[in-house]
Amino acid sequence: MIIDISSLERHYETPAGVVKALDGVNLQIEQGERVILLGPSGSGKTTLLNCLSALDSPTKGNYRFKGKQVPRSDSEKMTSFRRENIGYVFQFFNLLQDLTILENIVLIQELSGKKDPQRAQELLALVGLYEERNRFPGEISGGQQQRVAIARSLAKRPALLLGDELTGNLDTLTSSKVMEILVQACDQENITAVFVTHDESLVKYATRIIRIDSGKIISNEIVKTSG
Ligand code: ADP
Ligand code: MG
Repeated sequence: MIIDISSLERHYETPAGVVKALDGVNLQIEQGERVILLGPSGSGKTTLLNCLSALDSPTKGNYRFKGKQVPRSDSEKMTSFRRENIGYVFQFFNLLQDLTILENIVLIQELSGKKDPQRAQELLALVGLYEERNRFPGEISGGQQQRVAIARSLAKRPALLLGDELTGNLDTLTSSKVMEILVQACDQENITAVFVTHDESLVKYATRIIRIDSGKIISNEIVKTSG
């Protein structure tokens, strides 16, 4: 089991009272699963992703990753946990405009101490952008930029890949292309993934669908055998 969460809470103290962004979440995910996390705005999706990646610390409850307690309230330990284990794809592609596509990927490898230009080129081939490797982000389309961001998120071989509304800026056709590439990459690299969305049409890419509302998991359903 890669993720083992029990009775997780994330409460915010606000002038208007306590907001229970996560209110007793239990969640077990096996290696290689591809989870789509669905829920209305304000239901706690981003909060859960941020707790999964140790960007945020839960108020209460347990979170074990590969059997080990995930650090909380210690920003240095949380940062190294993320650096070692987590890949992230954002809604906005966040590519560095002054670097070529290939350089954007190699930079991330360098930051995590795993520089490997050969693998960087293989990843660009995987997302269908090998020919474009020496171009700049401004010279390719939005869908292509998101594919670069995917290659970049895989560059350090993360155990867990997270995406928050990662197709939120793409049209339907481009979204499906991007999702198909992601699925292929996760399968090929045996990467566990959790993708947050409010787009029901993405469920076909999942091996498990989890629905969250008011900080609680309201359904949790395996749809395909992963791997
Ligand atoms: P989602 O991603 O599903 O839209 P969030 O996880 O961002 O939802 O937020 C869940 C709840 O927690 C919402 O009610 C939101 O207003 C509240 N919340 C999130 N961040 C904070 C914060 N920093 N301070 C107070 N309340 C917050
Ligand atoms: Mg959100």
